[in-house]
Amino acid sequence: MGGREATMVLMDENGKRCDGRTVDEPRRIMIKAGGLKNADGSAYIEFGDNKILVGVFGPRDVHPKHMSNTDTGILRVRYHMEPFSVGERKNPAPSRREIEISKVIKEALEPAVMLDKFPRTAVDVFIEVLQADGGTRCAALTAASVALADAGIPMRDMVAAIAAGKVADTVILDVNNEEDQAGQADMPIGYMPNLEKITLLQLDGVLTPEEYKKCVQVGVDGCKLVYELQKKALNDKYFGNSGD
Ligand code: ADP
Repeated sequence: MGGREATMVLMDENGKRCDGRTVDEPRRIMIKAGGLKNADGSAYIEFGDNKILVGVFGPRDVHPKHMSNTDTGILRVRYHMEPFSVGERKNPAPSRREIEISKVIKEALEPAVMLDKFPRTAVDVFIEVLQADGGTRCAALTAASVALADAGIPMRDMVAAIAAGKVADTVILDVNNEEDQAGQADMPIGYMPNLEKITLLQLDGVLTPEEYKKCVQVGVDGCKLVYELQKKALNDKYFGNSGD
């Protein structure tokens, strides 16, 4: 992205993308609430070929104690990619990218979590990327939100996330790995659908002001679709027959 030459056809003459999707078609998304016995809340998401597991622990005591806040709870997020999650083995030590994504996801979740309800304690969110294929931060943020709700953490809203972007001079929804590598722009968006507030917006690439507005609109509409699947995952666990 950002000046890299496209060496593959990202959109054919019929407007079909490299994986056969139309411009505003998301990849297949499957979300499951629960599943981890030892976590207070958990979720698993498949977002195209991304596979991500999230465990939530807390509210619990903060160690070291000086990191706690007497007025409010704190949220801690660790985003981690398994060495086998990408084609070439990834070093298991936290990379700069993982540290940045952990921070970005934490800040995208904070407006939704009622941290003031549990002062002096911490809620820990552990994100394990088992398989990565572009858009892991959005998929992880979406699953983390479900895992927090599954843990019974008081929340103002869910955060649903998906990326908009630009390939072949066209605004698209849900950027896959090839489109991320060879496309013109990638804009991950996190959105609280009931409060109608964006909590994550990043942009890698160059857009005109019109394209920027269209990307935000396409991304927000995509987040609303993701939100329906988040609700379904929680409904399936708590009111359905999933048996967790
Ligand atoms: P996101 O996953 O949120 O789109 P990036 O844009 O940084 O975040 O990464 C895009 C994709 O690049 C990832 O989803 C993953 O498929 C791939 N990727 C990231 N880090 C590595 C790595 N160390 N080795 C190989 N592929 C990677």
